[in-house]
Amino acid sequence: MGTQVANPGSAAVLDSEKDTTGIGGHPRGLTTLFFTEMWERFSYYGMRALLILYMTTAIANGGMGLDNKRAASIYAAYVGSVYLMSIPGGWFADNVLGTRMAVLVGGVLIACGHFSMALPTTVSFFAGLILIVLGTGLLKPNVSAIVGSLYSPNDPRRDAGFSIFYMGINLGAGLAPLICSYLGENISWHMGFGMAGIFMALGIVQFVAHGERLSHVGHPPAFPPETLRRNALIGSVFTALIVLTVILLYFGPQTIQDYRPAIMIGGVALGLIWLFTSYLKPEEKKPVSAIVVLFCFSVVFWAVFEQAGSSFNLFARDFTDRSVPQSIANFIRAPEFPAGWYQSVNSFFLISLAPVFSWIWLRLGTRQPSSPIKFALGLFFVGAGALVLALASSFIGISGKVGPYWLIGVYLCHTIGELLLSPVGLSTTTKLAPSRLTGLMMGVWFLSISFGNFFAGEVAGNFSRDALLGLFAKVAAGPVIAAVILVLLTPSIRKLMGKVN
Ligand code: GLN
Repeated sequence: MGTQVANPGSAAVLDSEKDTTGIGGHPRGLTTLFFTEMWERFSYYGMRALLILYMTTAIANGGMGLDNKRAASIYAAYVGSVYLMSIPGGWFADNVLGTRMAVLVGGVLIACGHFSMALPTTVSFFAGLILIVLGTGLLKPNVSAIVGSLYSPNDPRRDAGFSIFYMGINLGAGLAPLICSYLGENISWHMGFGMAGIFMALGIVQFVAHGERLSHVGHPPAFPPETLRRNALIGSVFTALIVLTVILLYFGPQTIQDYRPAIMIGGVALGLIWLFTSYLKPEEKKPVSAIVVLFCFSVVFWAVFEQAGSSFNLFARDFTDRSVPQSIANFIRAPEFPAGWYQSVNSFFLISLAPVFSWIWLRLGTRQPSSPIKFALGLFFVGAGALVLALASSFIGISGKVGPYWLIGVYLCHTIGELLLSPVGLSTTTKLAPSRLTGLMMGVWFLSISFGNFFAGEVAGNFSRDALLGLFAKVAAGPVIAAVILVLLTPSIRKLMGKVN
């Protein structure tokens, strides 16, 4: 398609700017990316809905028979690594593959990972998890980067384009647990995992079949072959080191495992010291400090939010009344609906409430709260959700189960929190990042999600009936205290942020 000019990037923008033939009057490429990410998220959340349940189900019932602590460790290592790998994944695209090829290779690895988990052996289970981690690291950051490259910075459709893309994410994430949990929990775990793979494979076929819509963007870097080879080697060694570190932290000697949180926080602290003393220019220090402060609060948010797939999922299975009327029971051929169906609730609320939030921000215009205050509100809501679960835990009583609406309330609070914090975090990071550091600062954002996921998994390790009330009360207190601290810090953060608000 492209106009033949020296700089393929500017041709891309020119082409996309004129193009209104895609979804909602957007460039055609957005349609391809919408479905690619929709099916990738389908596979991610479909499998995630089953993961902890499968690991903690007795071997006699087709599961792995692990205790909660062990299963939570594996879960945490997996979900934390998925987001951690976005950092080398983004680097690979910029320095070796280009974003389009990175998405393709990532998608193939993910599909292979799910198919590997469809086989009923322990080796294929772990091989599958590693393949998905590597594949998602390549696909997830780069598919978003391609969305960005479809628009010029001033294209008025840009933000709406990302909102449409986020809808695709949640359509996939909402649909998957309905299908995969039904198959996994009621028929066979491995059939559920396989279904995730089938949809990822369809996503790739679609990405390739409609590849011409993206042929003007996401090119590989124009380096000589020997530089590409050297970069590929550096990237692979770096990736292998990260994988080994995670394996050591989670499955290495007990002393290392005991100090895991301290080692992880220490690692980030060392990275920050290096960043501030040796890498940043003096004028970059203030905005990057603001990003670092928001990073810490973002970790707290995701550490609670991302318990959806771990402790909340266990709560759905073990302590929620999921019985259904006889007619439905006959239809689904089970007396209860699958626990994993709750995993769809967040996406359902997100799709319904996103337009409400856009309307509120539009109405408030310049009167809307600053980014740190929206962040604090997000933290408050995620804390409120955990408080609902703490309350529910206190009502478990003799029947051993609470009503089905408690978890819906939890996910409603969490989705409101997500809508307040997640878009703000992304856009503030991109606006604050000095232009030479945009990629690195996006990596910092993904790192906060990764750390949140690691800690969310740790919490699930303490999941047991007797500990529930105390556990969720602590989980609720963390973000609420963080929200108060953030409100107090807001004037200073706004000073660091300068003109960005
Ligand atoms: N649900 C969104 C996604 O899967 C956001 C999750 C996150 O950023 N932690 O992309």
